[in-house]
Amino acid sequence: MTPYELSVLQAGENLDALMNLDPRGYGVCRTLYPAARKLAGSDGPVSIHGAEYLLEHIRSGEAVYVLTGFVLLPHECPETDGAVSSMVFCRMVAQMGAKPVLVCPEDCREPAKAMAAAAGLHFYDGEDAVEKVKKLPASVGFVAFPKEKEAAERKIASLLEKELPSMAVAVELPGRNEKDVYHNATGLDLTHLEAKTDLLFEALSEKGVPALAVGDLGNEAGLAALRPHLYEHIPYTAPDECRCGCGGGIAAKTAADCVLTATTSDWGLMALTAAMALLLEREDLLPDAAVYARVLDAGARAGLVDMNGWHIPAVDGFGEELLLPVITLMAETCRNILKVRKTGECDHWFGGMLRKNF
Ligand SMILES: [Zn+2]
Repeated sequence: MTPYELSVLQAGENLDALMNLDPRGYGVCRTLYPAARKLAGSDGPVSIHGAEYLLEHIRSGEAVYVLTGFVLLPHECPETDGAVSSMVFCRMVAQMGAKPVLVCPEDCREPAKAMAAAAGLHFYDGEDAVEKVKKLPASVGFVAFPKEKEAAERKIASLLEKELPSMAVAVELPGRNEKDVYHNATGLDLTHLEAKTDLLFEALSEKGVPALAVGDLGNEAGLAALRPHLYEHIPYTAPDECRCGCGGGIAAKTAADCVLTATTSDWGLMALTAAMALLLEREDLLPDAAVYARVLDAGARAGLVDMNGWHIPAVDGFGEELLLPVITLMAETCRNILKVRKTGECDHWFGGMLRKNF
């Protein structure tokens, strides 16, 4: 191991720990985590593994599809988790010179438009959204994905006619189970509320587009990659465990190549963003809590809800007092590691640790 590798490893351990902070104390995130780490197939942290995977595939000038948008009961509004971090991630993708395209249910159009403005991005949502974004800098495309299955299949066919994206990223994306039913966290049937975007995620993956998923429970598209672990350890996921009577569980049917799990999907994607900035040694790409706060506030005002249904700037029951310090810590631990590398102020420690066979 080199000093560089040691510092990347420690940065990743910091990010993995931060994204799995458990302010509910309910144990789900830290129970999911070993399965995601095992899937990564290396000894390394999941955040670094995911960031390497994204950086390997994202290409300047090429589209990155970001699939998100979970619609919740009882108000039938889309939630903040997934949507907010996706817009912050789209900003980073645009800063890297690649072309972010959000694929969401129609319900997310107005919130996405407001969040794009808060993130400093131009918003294109017409028929030619993908083409527009490819031509123009500092912009995000929006594709409304249908809830009705036949319409979804037609939409997939029309999107596959375009040049394929270099990467598909699913964030807190509703995933149907083996019985083709979409469930909320506690096993109720939400099939009528959700866009069938997981079908697009699968279709892209079948065409060879690299697929990364971020989730926080197991009912999100992509997390089928962790299925045996979900069945064994996570409530409502195994066959016959849902509460809707479909005979299945809430575990999604769709598997991704690379999976990140976290306490909230938003923390997972922000850890990934920080890890990418670290690997690129670009401080300007580190997630900025002030930008996140602006995007969250804009999204909540324009129609996104917190997990419990409130129109407030909160994610999965966590207010800004918890969300923002965690994002700041993700960014600042990485910034400090970059600083220490540059100044050499800890070189003697790196040398000493490596001589003692760290
Ligand atoms: Zn069910």
